[in-house]
Amino acid sequence: MKTVLITGASRGIGAAIARIFAQNGYHTFLTCAHHTEALFALQRELERSFGIPCTAIPCDMSDAEAVERLFAQLPPLDVLINNAGISYFGLLSEMSVADWHRVMDTNLSACFYTCRLAIPHMVRKKSGRILNISSVWGQTGSSMETAYCASKGGLNALTKALAKELAPSNIQVNALAPGFIDTDMNRCLSAEETAALITEIPADRAGTPEEAAALAWQVVNAPAYMTGQIISIDGGWT
Ligand code: NDP
Repeated sequence: MKTVLITGASRGIGAAIARIFAQNGYHTFLTCAHHTEALFALQRELERSFGIPCTAIPCDMSDAEAVERLFAQLPPLDVLINNAGISYFGLLSEMSVADWHRVMDTNLSACFYTCRLAIPHMVRKKSGRILNISSVWGQTGSSMETAYCASKGGLNALTKALAKELAPSNIQVNALAPGFIDTDMNRCLSAEETAALITEIPADRAGTPEEAAALAWQVVNAPAYMTGQIISIDGGWT
């Protein structure tokens, strides 16, 4: 049975990705740091609905030692999906150093922590897929979200560089760059702010976590010659 680790799967895009992999027969490993009840509820739902083994392991992905303890409990992975992420809204000049590191550690360093532990087995097998959930902001930038944009821009560069490093071992590394997706991450926006954002999107609506997850599944299952790509899903926004 194939194995997948999806980080940040207690809700939103990560939970939707977990449903697709479980539906397709994967032993699905899920993490989150805070909403562990939701994570265990998803574990039960996937086992009941799809008859696959699903393992939920609370883990703060921004903590390198916690990620080492996580991997000590995992079998070799066929697919690694680095999805856990946090946003931060505010002026850069008013951001604390602690908040900067929290965004960077969760959105960028966590990807390093998981990749370095997942890669050796993939290299031995000469197969494996890594998908990083980035953002259109990593390419275009956005006012009031400088740290978030920097973390996602870093994730894009990591994706491209690592893809080159691992292509000789037949391991594909790609990133998804969603635009505005209807999840808890955007609940801090007022109804007016959401409406104003949507007027800028040609598709005239937010994307759904299920649409992002459907593309994640397709990218993981794309021909092996596709690697090092940042693939947008944004309703024509950028
Ligand atoms: P949500 O806030 O709905 O979900 C974020 C997930 O990440 C939760 O499961 C959360 O779990 C988990 N998480 C956060 N911090 C940690 C941590 N330190 N360790 C482990 N898990 C953690 O957001 P989305 O589903 O929207 O976001 C998923 C990804 O998609 C993120 O990387 C985000 O940047 C990206 N994205 C989202 C967009 C959008 O418009 N929604 C647009 C572009 C990109 P818990 O809180 O329980 O720990």
